[in-house]
Amino acid sequence: MRLHRYSLGRDNYYHSRHWKNGLLLDDVFNGRAFIEEIAGDVYITVRAAYPSGFLGHLCAEVQSLVKSFWQGIDPRLHLPCPTENCKGLLERDEIMESKAEGIPKIRCAVCRKFHDIDGLMVSTAAKPEWQKAVTQLNRGQQEILKAVNTNYDALRGYL
Ligand SMILES: [Zn+2]
Repeated sequence: MRLHRYSLGRDNYYHSRHWKNGLLLDDVFNGRAFIEEIAGDVYITVRAAYPSGFLGHLCAEVQSLVKSFWQGIDPRLHLPCPTENCKGLLERDEIMESKAEGIPKIRCAVCRKFHDIDGLMVSTAAKPEWQKAVTQLNRGQQEILKAVNTNYDALRGYL
């Protein structure tokens, strides 16, 4: 299991923290991450001084896990809208495409506000609070978390 090295139980299984719908991961100086499944979406939250590195890495890991488990599924990564109390999600690929086209802002479909793309990416990297990124999936999220937990159990024998 690729995420095992971040498990709080990597040295002692009984220190691990994972349950039915989520797990807590730790990458020492790079921060701690909470991965949870809510109503069919996988939420990855990283807490660190500079969370973007660990967050990006975990998002890529989860995306590749999903792709390898379910062919044909195209997991999409979203960032939370920075407007306070807005539940809008901004799709990362759309942000990158806008940037590549020289469009400096992206509009949230929920609060209708335009957000500066550079500011969005910088604030995601620098805010010292819980960061959220969302991988929105069409189906099968519960199975992947089950698979994660199963793999953790399977790793017990090595500890
Ligand atoms: Zn919004």
